[in-house]
Amino acid sequence: PAGARELASLTPMMRQYLETKALNPDALLFFRLGDFYELFFEDAVKASELLQITLTARSKSGDRIPMCGVPYHSARRYIGRLIEQGLKVAICDQMEAPGNGPGIVRREVTRIITPGMVLDDEVLEPRSSNFLAAVHWGERGFGAALLEASTGEFFTVEAPSAQELVEALSRVEPRELLVPEGLTGATEVGFLTARLARVPAIAGMDKAAFEPARATAYLRAHFAVASLEAFGLVDAPLATGAAGAALRYLKDTQKTSAAHVDRLSRMERAGHMLMDESSRANLEVLKTLRDGARKGSLLGVLDRTATCMGARKLARWLAAPLCALPEIHARLDAVEELSQRSVWREELTTLLKEVADLERLCGRLSLGAGNARDLRALGVSLALLPKLSSALSRCTAPLLQSLAGPLGALPELAELLLRAVVDEPPLVIKEGGLIRQGFHAELDEIVALSTSGKDKLLEIEARERKRTGIASLKVRYNKVFGYYLEVTRSNLELVPKDYIRKQTTVGAERFITPELKEFEEKVLTAEERRCALELRLFEELRAQVVAAAPRIRSAAEAVATCDALLSFARCSAEYGYTRPVVDDSELFSLTGGRHPVVERVLAAGDAFVPNDVRLDPSDAQLLVITGPNMAGKSTVMRQVALTVLMAQAGCFVPARAAHIGLCDRIFTRVGAADNLARGQSTFMVEMTETSHILHHATRRSLVILDEIGRGTSTFDGLSIAWAVAEHLHDKIGARTLFATHYHELVDLAREKPRVKNLCVAVKEQGGKVLFLRKLVPGGANRSYGIEVARLAGLPQEVVGRARDILQNLESGELDDAGRPRVAVRRSAKTPAGQLGLFAGPAPVAPAVPAAHLKVLETLRDTALDITTPLEALNLLARLQKEL
Ligand code: ADP
Repeated sequence: PAGARELASLTPMMRQYLETKALNPDALLFFRLGDFYELFFEDAVKASELLQITLTARSKSGDRIPMCGVPYHSARRYIGRLIEQGLKVAICDQMEAPGNGPGIVRREVTRIITPGMVLDDEVLEPRSSNFLAAVHWGERGFGAALLEASTGEFFTVEAPSAQELVEALSRVEPRELLVPEGLTGATEVGFLTARLARVPAIAGMDKAAFEPARATAYLRAHFAVASLEAFGLVDAPLATGAAGAALRYLKDTQKTSAAHVDRLSRMERAGHMLMDESSRANLEVLKTLRDGARKGSLLGVLDRTATCMGARKLARWLAAPLCALPEIHARLDAVEELSQRSVWREELTTLLKEVADLERLCGRLSLGAGNARDLRALGVSLALLPKLSSALSRCTAPLLQSLAGPLGALPELAELLLRAVVDEPPLVIKEGGLIRQGFHAELDEIVALSTSGKDKLLEIEARERKRTGIASLKVRYNKVFGYYLEVTRSNLELVPKDYIRKQTTVGAERFITPELKEFEEKVLTAEERRCALELRLFEELRAQVVAAAPRIRSAAEAVATCDALLSFARCSAEYGYTRPVVDDSELFSLTGGRHPVVERVLAAGDAFVPNDVRLDPSDAQLLVITGPNMAGKSTVMRQVALTVLMAQAGCFVPARAAHIGLCDRIFTRVGAADNLARGQSTFMVEMTETSHILHHATRRSLVILDEIGRGTSTFDGLSIAWAVAEHLHDKIGARTLFATHYHELVDLAREKPRVKNLCVAVKEQGGKVLFLRKLVPGGANRSYGIEVARLAGLPQEVVGRARDILQNLESGELDDAGRPRVAVRRSAKTPAGQLGLFAGPAPVAPAVPAAHLKVLETLRDTALDITTPLEALNLLARLQKEL
């Protein structure tokens, strides 16, 4: 903003500002000036716009410098809003009290807050994680590290392709991507951000930080280990580089040792079910498609957790269900036990409700942030854990029992914190009032001095009066001498030898004594010493917390697990779920199954109609589901996918009985409109996703295809749908549900042994359609589109006309004007009609003269592969004549 010449003309303070800003060019610099954080130049312009605060100007040397500011005590709120919009903020604080020594106050950037590096409660969403993802790529593919600054969670991922990396990243929805400097605009970064549901902010970091050798050394030093083998980082240079960069970013921005980052693990692909981002979005696992709200999603239904840690854990379980039987059974056992014990559930929930966010408290304190309220909250919460622990040790499910240990591991720290910190500590840590009386003898003495100083003076006064016999003797104070004893002239001869004369005034003399001076020293500095000592004690306590961080993290993990299991159990008990049989068979069988979300939102009186679905690779591997629009095809297909997902996350399922052979992956291709926002053609997106499925699905996968081929013309669409279904049947063998409006696909079941037809039953009653919502064997054989159109309120005359046209189309008669009506063909070779009114182009063709039709038919029926060029020419000539 200013050239060298202008720099020289600036005030020292502005020069300090510009120097600091130069070191943090990409962050908005919050520059502390007294009680405000001020922003200058472009920062000020930008912030004043985004925060809607007044832009003023500072004009010292003629130039007007744009400026705006926020009071320091409410800065967090403003910072939160800037971070929310993907910006970075650097906090520059005063490092010494103003007025000490010559020159201007020393200022330093004490921390940088970025979308992925947030510790503040006011900025963090309590029930979601806030991850940074460092990403690096090369010939071997992609490596990434995921780091949650507020909790210390730290994972690495290696992925052969960007698409697979997206799958891993989308499990945690990172807020910020960190990539090597200069590559922030790379196509790889564009690919990742376009596919993540929540678009992350992008930050660059010195390429060197990503170098595997450097990163290895850095990580080894941080974790104090000789090798990274224990972290699974052998022969994973890209992930190692990313992990090094992520940790360095945390330490650089937060300016701390990051002691709470005490472990690093590989985000295992094995052991977890894979789900790509669009499937997770389509199934509305964590949020709804329409408005991105949690309410109305699967998580919205299943999240009955009492703590934020539990809520985050539950979201992660649903985002990445398990694929390993022992772990699934362990969760199901725990859920079963808790679902049968309503008294235990209430007891545990009551305790959990009182437990604060241990992970984030511990994270904040470990990063040198946090205040005495955090210590107090930590103490209160930790003190509850032994109760939780003993409640859990009564349980018989091994998973629940295993939580008791880590929960009981911190009684001394809880006791210490409760003993040390007052019940309601202040927000600030530098002004005393944090530490409880009786905790520290020296502090008690200082506090007594500063609060009972007056009493002590009166005591000295009374005693000296008595000793000297001078009834008018007074203890007084002024700024020059401090405390002194004043004796009137008439009493001077009574003054004892140990008084030291200090000053003579008109009617009196002033004396001091060593005792008084000593007292004065104590009183005057008591307040200052109190604050300093309390701060020191606070820091000592914080150090104890940091030392115990690994145990606190383990306890927090146990609390979260307990809470998530309890939430599953509560839903299972209250919503009438049953325990699914999960094994390594390839069966999927649902008896009396319901859609977990739809059944909850149906209006009272509209009971959900349960359905049976059986998929079995030996005889019913691919189910073709037909039925009119609004019949319930999507609902039943999503219900199957969600049931698998819930079971493999360890939850009971909404059904009378369920048998689920382990799925390695769930694929869905649903709807056609959802990707428009990304600027790709709908059909292209549809085909890209279908291609992804065909390349990656295995025999163990579950594939849900809804209205495949809808985005193109009828012939194209049907051909593609048909070929995709064949491939899934013949080559892949994955359990597949295929909903379609091309009812020609019903014929597939005749050709393919493992294809079965199902349709959602509807009943006609007095010319109207009644949706029965019941899945029955067989294919739908006619369209109820017009009825749906009528239900949707299309004008009566339009509905009537549509009925006529449909009839004509189906009968193929001539109309009043003698023109032929276009016949609807029902063979697979020349399909035309679609089920459903909303499905495609208008089925009525423009009137075509009969002669022309004949020409067209001749053309169509000509077998070109056996036609010679001469025959072709002759044919052309003949056809031309007929026109
Ligand atoms: P389709 O995919 O066949 O067009 P949907 O699956 O979208 O139809 O279902 C339409 C509506 O019908 C849903 O919004 C839901 O409210 C209701 N519905 C679907 N299945 C059931 C059911 N089994 N019981 C009750 N209502 C259902």
